[in-house]
Amino acid sequence: MAESNSADLMDKIVSLCKRRGFIFQSSEIYGGINGFWDYGPLGVELRKNIRDCWWNDMVRRRDDVVGLESSIIMHPKVWEASGHVGGFTDPMVDCKVSKQRFRADQIFFSPVIVDGKTVGYVTVLESERIAEELLEKAETFKRKKAIQGKLEPVQPKDFTEAKAEEIPLIPSPATGEPGSLTPPRAFNMMFETYVGALRDESAVAYLRPETAQGMFVDFKAILDTGRVKIPFGIAQVGKSFRNEITPRNFIFRSREFEQMEMEYFIADDDDWAKWHRYWIDWCREWLISVGISAELLSEYDHAKEKLAFYSKGTTDIMFKYPFGVQELWGIAARGDYDLTQHSKASGQPMEYFDDVKKKRFVPHVIEPAVGVDRILLAILCSAYVEDQAPDEKGKMETRTVLKLHPRIAPIKVAVFPLLKNKPELVKKAQEVRDLLRPYMTVFYDEASAIGRRYRRQDEVGTPFGVTIDFDTLGEKGPELADTVTLRERDTMKQERVKISDLLGILLPRVR
Ligand code: ATP
Repeated sequence: MAESNSADLMDKIVSLCKRRGFIFQSSEIYGGINGFWDYGPLGVELRKNIRDCWWNDMVRRRDDVVGLESSIIMHPKVWEASGHVGGFTDPMVDCKVSKQRFRADQIFFSPVIVDGKTVGYVTVLESERIAEELLEKAETFKRKKAIQGKLEPVQPKDFTEAKAEEIPLIPSPATGEPGSLTPPRAFNMMFETYVGALRDESAVAYLRPETAQGMFVDFKAILDTGRVKIPFGIAQVGKSFRNEITPRNFIFRSREFEQMEMEYFIADDDDWAKWHRYWIDWCREWLISVGISAELLSEYDHAKEKLAFYSKGTTDIMFKYPFGVQELWGIAARGDYDLTQHSKASGQPMEYFDDVKKKRFVPHVIEPAVGVDRILLAILCSAYVEDQAPDEKGKMETRTVLKLHPRIAPIKVAVFPLLKNKPELVKKAQEVRDLLRPYMTVFYDEASAIGRRYRRQDEVGTPFGVTIDFDTLGEKGPELADTVTLRERDTMKQERVKISDLLGILLPRVR
């Protein structure tokens, strides 16, 4: 990641994404719609590559995982049985003065205590520096009110922990004044819709808030195909929808996003902790294999007392985003909760028969669940670099490079004729383009000076550039005829290679 690891870096990434056609605000010509994003020409390629890599590694290259694509709208009873209708909520707080809404667990407050006495409260929104910011505010509060005495350390708590008598005293993050925040109340994040012509209670359905329930609901159907034996997994990639109270941090928290989830079913007496560890390690290795820096990754084990009653353990793989260390991939050991719930609610048995042990049981499950968009953002943050490179005249200038792993780079190779007004160069370059195109994404560019064309490709992460020049045409002697310059993005090193060798050199490096 670039040195300017901060809000500055985030601004640069957002601006690059817009300028170069990775990501746009949805419905921008109408002022945009909060929490929804569009992926432009390069964004769709990058997304598709992430998805394809995951699918290949998770499903196609394994004997023990099969794929599924279930519908986005499912029977409403699915979401009752799964607990989402009753409990898929975030705590919401309204500011009655500004009319802004907040997630209660993203508001942090502390009493201001001077000489052992509480003299007021201060508030900040979730950030990397909650305690420091609260202390700064407490110092300002004491100074402004001209209170004498010793300021005691702040005691940060989130708003869900506020006592009823404290709520009227805690300042709103919107106005800075106390008295306008409501007590937190549960807000269900599922999007509702109606199925069919009637718009009454009986027609209510939900856009799925996760893909996972498809795997539980279709568990029996997949078992009956006879292709699978425990332990085995069912994987799915698809859109999920959550009416997030405060979508933010670009594509990190959106209302429409894409998930890649896998449910790994194991025997009820198997060592769940071993499998949990196995999948945490697998996910971490996979993130590194698509170019995410290992040093930006960490693990967070959820505290036992905060887990749902059925959960045996949840570990999140965290990524150091410019706006803080945040969850990227959650790996949960969910016991037999989901299958048991659906079995009870539907009346259908969700059991597995082990014909060696002659035993029937409800399998337990390990669930690695990740968002494509969060991976994409982590990849961009890992890959964004500003370095120094010589311009056309040899003067050093700042170069922006996306050091994307060739596996996931939207364009694998750019092909440039040195000059666009020399038909022989153009013809040769188009031949090279057509030679490579069946095997990889190729971008052909003949506009502007060659240095500028290299920079444009560096900025969108194209790992290789091929230039067709007069040597290619044999003007400097027959030994260089039909050779091209192959430039590598990160080192900017150039080597002379034969056109007939190009495919053999590039293919193993981009796959
Ligand atoms: P968070 O605590 O950040 O809201 P979560 O714990 O609710 O996330 P899960 O329900 O475990 O998330 O979802 C699995 C994965 O789906 C997350 O690890 C994340 O990568 C992705 N994800 C969840 N919510 C969103 C969202 N609103 N926007 C983008 N990706 C999301």
